[in-house]
Amino acid sequence: MPYRAPVTEFSFLMDKIVNFSAVQETERFAEASTDMVHAVLTEAAKLSDEVMAPLQRAGDLTPARLENGVVRASPGFAEGYRAIAEGGWVAITADPEHGGMGLPLTVATAVNEMMAGACLSLQLNPLLTQGQIEALEHHADDAMKALYLPKLISGEWTGTMNLTEPQAGSDVGALSSKAEERGDGTYAITGQKIYISWGDTDFADNVCHLVLARLPGAPAGTRGISLFMVPKYIPDADGNPGVANSLKVVSLEHKMGLHGSPTCVMSYEGATGWIVGAPGGGMKAMFTMMNNARLGVGGQGVGAAEGAYQHALAFANERKQGKSPEGTIIGHADVRRMLATMKAEIFAARAIELDCALSIDMGRAAPAPEWQARAAFLTPIAKAFGTDIGCAVADMGVQVHGGMGYVEESGAAQYYRDVRVTAIYEGTNGIQAMDMVGRKLMDGGDAAYGLIDEIEAGVEAAKASQPELANAIWEAAASLRETTEWLVAQEMTARFATAVPYLRAFARVLGGHYHLRAALADPGGARARLATFYITRLLPEHVGLLAHVRAGDAALMAITPDDLAA
Ligand SMILES: Cc1cc2nc3c(=O)[nH]c(=O)nc-3n(C[C@H](O)[C@H](O)[C@H](O)COP(=O)(O)OP(=O)(O)OC[C@H]3O[C@@H](n4cnc5c(N)ncnc54)[C@H](O)[C@@H]3O)c2cc1C
Repeated sequence: MPYRAPVTEFSFLMDKIVNFSAVQETERFAEASTDMVHAVLTEAAKLSDEVMAPLQRAGDLTPARLENGVVRASPGFAEGYRAIAEGGWVAITADPEHGGMGLPLTVATAVNEMMAGACLSLQLNPLLTQGQIEALEHHADDAMKALYLPKLISGEWTGTMNLTEPQAGSDVGALSSKAEERGDGTYAITGQKIYISWGDTDFADNVCHLVLARLPGAPAGTRGISLFMVPKYIPDADGNPGVANSLKVVSLEHKMGLHGSPTCVMSYEGATGWIVGAPGGGMKAMFTMMNNARLGVGGQGVGAAEGAYQHALAFANERKQGKSPEGTIIGHADVRRMLATMKAEIFAARAIELDCALSIDMGRAAPAPEWQARAAFLTPIAKAFGTDIGCAVADMGVQVHGGMGYVEESGAAQYYRDVRVTAIYEGTNGIQAMDMVGRKLMDGGDAAYGLIDEIEAGVEAAKASQPELANAIWEAAASLRETTEWLVAQEMTARFATAVPYLRAFARVLGGHYHLRAALADPGGARARLATFYITRLLPEHVGLLAHVRAGDAALMAITPDDLAA
């Protein structure tokens, strides 16, 4: 079943749902006209459909492997990567001064999602490079920018992020890799990193590792962490890959899915590195990369959901079983329920993802603290909800296929296995929710209330033509506001214990808000029918979620570890 990147959907979302014209009206992004954006999306869709989608199965059936210390990519991945790089897709948001296109992140987010839907394991490679480019643009000195950015942007070199160590996963502050100053402007980096995605490849001339490590005497925790650029090959005087650095891939992980993406155990053995930003400023610099990557990973979830949905829809239109008006299983109410849920969830998660990207664009183009706060608040929602939806939709995709979903040749199971990790890496979804109720509510709830105000304004605009749908959103927004007020008044322990249902409730109500706009844009049409389905059948979940939040932490924390073992 061929994959078709959803260009029309992105155009609709940008034109009618997330106010992309605000970005186009800024001086910085004035060139991103509607025609130009449509042309970019159409080209990216062509690459996704024709070049990347055919690689999806190859990556699963023939995983990347380690051969004499070098990672050999899955068949066809080198050609696929070359097509991505030659098309200029590695870094379309990057600064034109270094060879980028300077396009809005909203457009890049759509492009990334289309490519993720086509082949998640290959798409992860340029996604990581994009994050590295952004970290260097913000934190590297001019010499490092001049040396690395053009090569990363052109795709000749690829980028990785090295945070995780065996004892330091979610608790990044526990990492123990060391960096020692050599007195010649370089540092010797020593330590082991695990789970490093695309830690090596045979299709790039150099692999540039951004590594978190500690300088001697650095304070414990995240304050003592610095960031280093550690290339696989040390650039020579002309900036070309020179002698091999003292680092190696020790082994590759055997994973549940995402087999085309090598997940490496890396060993740094006095490797030569250069500091990025100030000593002790590693987490600040890495956060630039991680925030970009969090939104990108949310988009991976939505992209995989789109692929799983397209597969399931095609199957449901062909499979005959029992009697139905359509003659196939799509006529059965329960199959229709699954497909409608999948489609409605994808719309909601995609709108959140694009609105988050748009807020980041606005925060850069028209630096106003409100936009930056809006982006910061939406980022954990985009990551966690996008990837939770990715997992849930891929799960339903298997179910729609019946027994064939459990049989590998249908491809449905691969979506499920591949997307599962997106809820884990880049900060688990539990950690995202804690970020949302912790750091992102430190403003006393201003960013949250700002979004709830927008939802209420959307209701005002819709109540004349869509009174019932508007009323349901109005009530949901009022409950969300009340619970937010309650949560802001709680201690951190209660907030953390209820973070996951709060994040999901917020996403649910936001999803209803975007669906309501879609209903307004297409009265009596398919979008209005999908909005009615979402608002009447999926939105009510927020009631239970908010009740879960308001129950606080008492009943949960009263359960002891001994109780769990009883
Ligand atoms: C395929 C794959 C690719 C990856 N790629 C990269 C990469 O390129 N670079 C990189 O640096 N890392 C990478 N990672 C690592 C990934 O980011 C970590 O796995 C993730 O951050 C979780 O860390 P952990 O596995 O140690 O789990 P743990 O931190 O041990 O977490 C276990 C569980 O405890 C929960 N938990 C932990 N701490 C808390 C807390 N304080 N409060 C509440 N709950 C908590 C977690 O949410 C989780 O449910 C990758 C991982 C995988 C599987």
